[in-house]
Amino acid sequence: MSGKFDVIIAGAGPTGSTAATILAGKGFKVALIDKAEFPRKKLCGGLLTYKATEVLNKIFGCDVDCLKKQGIINFESPEYSINYRDYNIRDAESSIPFRFVDRIDFDYFLLQKAANAGAQIFTGEEIKECNYQDAEIKTASNRIFKGKYLIGADGVHSTIRRSVPYDKKKWRDDMAATIEIIFDKKDFPREVAKPELYIGHLRAGYIWVFPAKGKVVTGIGALTRCTTDFKKTYMDFLRSQGIANPESMHMQGYPLPYGNFMENPCFGRTLLAGDAAGLVEPLFGEGIFYALQTGRYAAESIARGITENKSPDKFYLERLEKYVFPELRYSNRLRWTLFYSQPLLKHMSFKMMFKSMPRILADMVHGVRSYKFLLKKEWD
Ligand SMILES: Cc1cc2nc3c(=O)[nH]c(=O)nc-3n(C[C@H](O)[C@H](O)[C@H](O)COP(=O)(O)OP(=O)(O)OC[C@H]3O[C@@H](n4cnc5c(N)ncnc54)[C@H](O)[C@@H]3O)c2cc1C
Repeated sequence: MSGKFDVIIAGAGPTGSTAATILAGKGFKVALIDKAEFPRKKLCGGLLTYKATEVLNKIFGCDVDCLKKQGIINFESPEYSINYRDYNIRDAESSIPFRFVDRIDFDYFLLQKAANAGAQIFTGEEIKECNYQDAEIKTASNRIFKGKYLIGADGVHSTIRRSVPYDKKKWRDDMAATIEIIFDKKDFPREVAKPELYIGHLRAGYIWVFPAKGKVVTGIGALTRCTTDFKKTYMDFLRSQGIANPESMHMQGYPLPYGNFMENPCFGRTLLAGDAAGLVEPLFGEGIFYALQTGRYAAESIARGITENKSPDKFYLERLEKYVFPELRYSNRLRWTLFYSQPLLKHMSFKMMFKSMPRILADMVHGVRSYKFLLKKEWD
């Protein structure tokens, strides 16, 4: 028996480390368990929006300057470019810069914050079994952890999610595939100084070329059920950028929740958050902010539930419904409008949209405006 805790947190990505920092900071006895040894890799473009840096500051007390000083934010650019295939739709400037992190450093930084707050960290412990009703898990080394509550923050392949009853068909139907190739800056045929998005190559997805310190991060992501020739599309794109033999490069793939978020991620004594519950924005695939925010909501709901001797479900669902679900629902609608219109209107629909309101659209991605009718957005 490895011990009894107030809260067991499965997975020490941004969701889990956020939840652990909050709960441990409030004095609860927390076990944060991850199968990996940290620092560890996580496939990701590393783009941080304004709303993500705001919530980082709120929870971890580290603003943009602090994140830069510590080398966590390693690149930023207010400029961005949108392209329809090889046609440049718009080079624009956002009022707030797009910022980039390397997930090896970022996730380790958050894990250390959780440890400093008092969470007990168990890395190299793979969770193999879960009794979600009793908030109990068993790891590959036969250690058993029992909590009053369990947070499933173990990402897209979540073992915790697989132990609860959920709609597996919906989950599979709205799953995206991604591939990334990361280049040393010197090996990429041209300078990349701003995030670039390429649409029109795929029916339901896009290609990205992101700047980073000393690197260029390229990737492709698309809804699996709408996509054929996924890898070939990516290879052809890279060839069009001047990469001679992209097939020979080191590439990695990973699934991304893409519109399959759970409307009720509460199961008895277990709450799911972040990728484990599919809580990712369904147009651009932004997940870091939703990981931080839903990890926070899950933790604060459990803290309140324990203190008031009530179920945390209501508190968690209320905040998801008020702040998170509207964004996910409306970005889902917007993506289908864009994806359906692109074969008909080609680049013109996008050109009209981005030409008329480049700053407002950037504000929407940053979370200053909502995906719901571009209204000003207030986060709590
Ligand atoms: C190619 C790609 C590019 C992306 N680019 C961006 C981007 O630029 N910006 C953005 O905001 N989002 C991006 N995302 C999404 C973002 O990476 C995720 O939404 C985010 O990592 C979710 O955080 P999480 O903590 O929920 O899950 P994760 O970061 O996946 O962490 C889950 C943790 O759980 C652990 N775990 C899993 N199973 C077990 C187990 N059985 N036992 C113990 N531990 C376990 C894992 O080791 C891991 O540490 C991208 C995703 C992909 C795939």
